[in-house]
Amino acid sequence: MNRCYNEENRTHGGTVRVFSTEGETMDNKMRLRKILRGLKKEYPEPKTALKFRTHFELLVATVLSAQTTDAQVNKVTEPLFRKYRSITDYAETDLDVLKKDVNSVNFYNNKAKNIQGSARMIIDSFKGKVPGTMEELLMLPGVARKTANIILSGAFGINEGIAVDTHVNRLANRLGLTRHEDPVKIEQDLMEITPKAEWGNLSHLLIFHGRKVCQARKPKHSDCVLYEICPSKDI
Ligand code: SF4
Repeated sequence: MNRCYNEENRTHGGTVRVFSTEGETMDNKMRLRKILRGLKKEYPEPKTALKFRTHFELLVATVLSAQTTDAQVNKVTEPLFRKYRSITDYAETDLDVLKKDVNSVNFYNNKAKNIQGSARMIIDSFKGKVPGTMEELLMLPGVARKTANIILSGAFGINEGIAVDTHVNRLANRLGLTRHEDPVKIEQDLMEITPKAEWGNLSHLLIFHGRKVCQARKPKHSDCVLYEICPSKDI
């Protein structure tokens, strides 16, 4: 069926004309290729800015990073990772002490509880090792698809999905790659048009570009390497 209709998407501070046709996926695949090419030139090392040494430390840093900048998380984890050397340290510490150790990040009460809960579950159910599948990671408290994708990609080199945070959400919409707000649907749209080998890279590249150029309030269109191909350059 050759569906073809136009629709207005009024999100992220502007109106973007989007198209839904059988050719839309093809168009988006081509645009995505250009986006990857352009962003890779700007950000040649697309990887997380979070600092970690072990799989569990990546989990801790990722849990702490929700609604918090990576720079702030790194400030907190530097002394934290010196103090807590193993998963057992997190599992056995007094929860109030752990809360105090991370209390300069947003929502530290819940984050500390989830970190300790994850440590205990990993010891009890996964022989003390951070599990390496989406299904198992989603069993850990406080771990949803975004965190699981970051851990799979960053710790295990597995591209199972695309981590969708607030930057990825905003840029995917502005760049016309999706018209959804729900992260799970955005992830599906992006997975459909992105080569699997690039899933981890795409997330990092959109995050870097969202922080530096395509910011939420005042996107710097004139400084943007994607200007020519972006359907939101007039917002
Ligand atoms: S042209 Fe503007 S809206 Fe489009 S990606 Fe660049 S900064 Fe964002």
